[in-house]
Amino acid sequence: MDPYKNRRWVIILIIISIGLIFSFRLFYVQVINHEWSHRAAKISLKTENLQPPRGFIYDRNNKLLVGAETVYDIFILPIAIKEKDTSLICNLFDMSKLDFKKVLENASTGYNVPYKPSVFIKSMTQLEHAKISPFIGKISGVFAEAKIDRGYPLSIASHLLGYIRRIDENQFQNTRANGDFFYTKNDFIGITGLEKQYELLLRGQRGNINYLKDYAGNKIKTVNKIPAQPGKSLQITLDANLQKLGEKLMAHKIGSIVAIEPSSGEILAMVSAPSYNPSLLTGKNFSKEFERLKQNDSLKPLINRPVYNDKYRPGSIFKLVQALIALEDGVITSNTGFSCNKNIIGCHNHERPNNLLKAIKHSCNPYFFQVYKRLIMKGKGKNIFEISREGLGNWEKKIKTFGFGSTLGIDLPDEKSGFVPNVSFYDQWYGKKRWAFSTIYSNSIGEGEIGVSPIQMANLAAIIANKGYYFTPHIIKEIEEENIKEKFKTKHYSCVDAKHFDVIIDAMNEVVNNGTGRNARIDSIEVCGKTGTVENKNFNDHSVFISFAPMNQPKIAIAVYVEFGTWGSKWAAPVASLMMENYLNGFLSNKSKIKAAKIQSEVILNKNTKF
Ligand SMILES: [Zn+2]
Repeated sequence: MDPYKNRRWVIILIIISIGLIFSFRLFYVQVINHEWSHRAAKISLKTENLQPPRGFIYDRNNKLLVGAETVYDIFILPIAIKEKDTSLICNLFDMSKLDFKKVLENASTGYNVPYKPSVFIKSMTQLEHAKISPFIGKISGVFAEAKIDRGYPLSIASHLLGYIRRIDENQFQNTRANGDFFYTKNDFIGITGLEKQYELLLRGQRGNINYLKDYAGNKIKTVNKIPAQPGKSLQITLDANLQKLGEKLMAHKIGSIVAIEPSSGEILAMVSAPSYNPSLLTGKNFSKEFERLKQNDSLKPLINRPVYNDKYRPGSIFKLVQALIALEDGVITSNTGFSCNKNIIGCHNHERPNNLLKAIKHSCNPYFFQVYKRLIMKGKGKNIFEISREGLGNWEKKIKTFGFGSTLGIDLPDEKSGFVPNVSFYDQWYGKKRWAFSTIYSNSIGEGEIGVSPIQMANLAAIIANKGYYFTPHIIKEIEEENIKEKFKTKHYSCVDAKHFDVIIDAMNEVVNNGTGRNARIDSIEVCGKTGTVENKNFNDHSVFISFAPMNQPKIAIAVYVEFGTWGSKWAAPVASLMMENYLNGFLSNKSKIKAAKIQSEVILNKNTKF
């Protein structure tokens, strides 16, 4: 008798039963119940969005201004964090234990679960990452992942280039409402400057990939793929070397520099001071740095002054426009002389302004009082009020042909129009028939109610350099595979005939050689310029200079505005001169290098300014 006979049967039965159970289950899942087959089909086709890389930005000589940079996101896996590593983590990332506890909590709640990694530091720079990487290798539960962000190899032109930032809810909804479904809530979008202006070109086109995925989440097969189209690269008109010099010269100062190529309207340099390093507004420190820059509001470092600040009074550079209009109107000739009568309006001592050239050379205020009076009071109305109204109406129309009082149409966001005072403005201010020339004469010397932006001042220099016309100032030079917009190739004529410009140009050359702008002279180059000193109640006056060079066939026209710079020839004239020398010669002479270093180190601020 086999003592194990029964037991053997029991074991065989158990094995058969298990086999049957599995067979039935298999039969049930495969034949009877379709839930699993549905489920498998449902999860097997997966679509993934492909993000296009953003276009780069190059200067006029193909130097990279905005490119890509590798940055690192730091991830944390809460379940793998060991108590003993806490101190090391806190030291590495400069946080308190309490902060780290919060990080762990955040990484374990809501959408995050403790056994899935989540980001806790975004976009560390390569340098920052290099410092921590030997240590994080030793910590379980913390690791870094590389990704691509905006990079600024030259760290210049921050206002002009602008910045990008993660799209906010409003922008997200607005783009959708406008039929633009490009963005997901994690995407970046251009907020200011060229990043905003050319967003649609820079961002590229999104692609996608469809693939089959098994139940465990593995990709089995790509079904189809539409590759992302990278954003287009822009070449802009800026000269990086010139821009860099301009930013150095305007260090510790408030104001702007705009340089234009008169024959094309291309912007060669656009400096807004104070400035900031564009890299500050990328990556992990964005919010912190943005708030810090915004709080320095007494200096408004985020404002692009050249296009945005249209409240600048032009001062004596405006005398050039008055002279041109007066010549065109026939109320003066180049030989017209007036006395420098300081009883009418203040002036300094200088040779008698017995012609227009001498009046400009010495920037004679009483002379231009008389010029403006002839412009405004030339009508034949019944009384001085009516004559003034008619005169101002005509004058306003003519001034506007120089690009004042309206936006020029530059390809940058937030351009402001400036202001040319007119009849309705003074009617509102003083009342109808309650103002006449004697009320508004300060316009004659660029004081009073006129407001212009630095780009408009530079454009004035370009108009004179071109003897009467300008091209809309612009930043874009070329867009990959696309032509420059036609609107930038149109000549805009001022109301003044070309023949009237010769005397103005001669006078501007005299200003630099023997007049108020001698600080702008450059050895071996004939420079034309005009100084301006803008009154600034209770504070130092502003220093203004517009200029172009060489005198014949000008290649650069420039406007410099140094707030609180006391007078035109003191700071604005030498800054303009150094910029032109550098651009035209390609370098600065040793003498000029010393001058540049001195200007760079000079601090010129309103005494109430706070950093
Ligand atoms: Zn005078």
